[in-house]
Amino acid sequence: LVSRKKKPENTVIHINGASIGDGNVHFVMGPCAVEGYKQVATVAKAIKQHGVKLLRGGAFKPRTSPYDFQGLGVEGLEILKKAAVEHDLAVVSEIVNPAHIEEALDYLDVIQIGARNMQNFELLKAAGDVNKPVLLKRGLSATISEFINAAEYIMSRGNANIILCERGIRTYEKATRNTLDISAVPILKQETHLPVMVDVTHSTGRRDLLLPTAKAAIAIGADGVMAEVHPDPAVALSDSAQQMDIPTFHHFMEEMEDMAERM
Ligand code: PEP
Ligand code: MN
Repeated sequence: LVSRKKKPENTVIHINGASIGDGNVHFVMGPCAVEGYKQVATVAKAIKQHGVKLLRGGAFKPRTSPYDFQGLGVEGLEILKKAAVEHDLAVVSEIVNPAHIEEALDYLDVIQIGARNMQNFELLKAAGDVNKPVLLKRGLSATISEFINAAEYIMSRGNANIILCERGIRTYEKATRNTLDISAVPILKQETHLPVMVDVTHSTGRRDLLLPTAKAAIAIGADGVMAEVHPDPAVALSDSAQQMDIPTFHHFMEEMEDMAERM
């Protein structure tokens, strides 16, 4: 169902005035994890200034170590929703448990399925059973074919509003946290009719690479860019090394706006 052969025209997903897949570049910005209302509201205000329409933030964090901050759970979703309503933004947040999907519908505009859960088939089916857009991330070591099949799980249950997100894959290279597979973008766009985004934060794991990789994503035809923004990354409870602070974020968006004008 996700194949371009089945449906030649692009799928366009309408969320909060953003038409994702319409040929323009859309941004999903926000902190790695929701840590508190003030933190999220500060970021929401900054991203709104650049016309960003989608606010991200993790409430249920799938952390590699059980001793790391696990997220605020439903309280985190409440905080996101409050900040989003105040700044007219849509909420994108990861759900890790199929049983949480129903409850989360009240808070979310987009259900994020993270890299670690790309082949959590019960979660994919549960997301496919609801009428809410899904942002599906590529698995840590997933092939493009496996990624497309994961999207097929969702669509085969009836939910056609899926955004694919390349977020880097595991390779032998240690200079970046993951290896951004930039060619996945045109391949996914050829093979499927779905919008494709690039997460520059989790693919690189490096603040200094966010801007060049975002430019590459746009140049190669991505429908959107995801990146993390935190008021004070040095004290962030997760992903401290790669979140942008607010001035860096403003500079990032100015560069993106310049690039859009030149294209
Ligand atoms: C995230 O976007 O918050 C995240 C955990 O990313 P990923 O699933 O790509 O690692
Ligand atoms: Mn993160």
